[in-house]
Amino acid sequence: MFLDRDGTIHPDTGYLHSPAAVEIYPAARRGLKLLAEQGFLLFLVTNQSGVGRGYFSAKAVESVHRKIESELAQDGVRLAGIAYCPHHPDAGCRCRKPSPYLVEDLAARHGVDTGRSYFVGDKISDVLAGANAGCRTVLLATPRREAELRRHSGWREPGRVVEDLYRAALWIKSEPDPGD
Ligand SMILES: [Mg+2]
Ligand SMILES: [Zn+2]
Repeated sequence: MFLDRDGTIHPDTGYLHSPAAVEIYPAARRGLKLLAEQGFLLFLVTNQSGVGRGYFSAKAVESVHRKIESELAQDGVRLAGIAYCPHHPDAGCRCRKPSPYLVEDLAARHGVDTGRSYFVGDKISDVLAGANAGCRTVLLATPRREAELRRHSGWREPGRVVEDLYRAALWIKSEPDPGD
């Protein structure tokens, strides 16, 4: 199970880099718990171009990630891995979403079959990164936001659109596993 970070498990406040500012969405806490109970390994895959732009350091990103891990540990939820692209969007790197690189790398290292997994995120680049890696996809959006995104030239139909991670987890739970 691959999850975007900003706007998916906590609000997207724009270049978040302070651990003290991390506030996990209540619906994300419930959703992650439900996904973990279903046996999914949970991974975060996030673009953090603030590093490449010189807004904050890789160390700041990692301290935010330690904070996220400790917050989730309070719910008994453990992340199996966190991967991020630190590069500037113009750097031409191989890892920035919508590239599937980070998903494929995590999947290979942890023995995850992407065809039986999902990518959940709040942007088209999340849907694309997931689909490019062979995952099923869930877009988190309000009806108004969805209508906005559908006008985008890069739009790609996700497997499902729901408003939050708890609803995503409920939908995933109701879906048949293609591996069975
Ligand atoms: Mg996001
Ligand atoms: Zn990158």
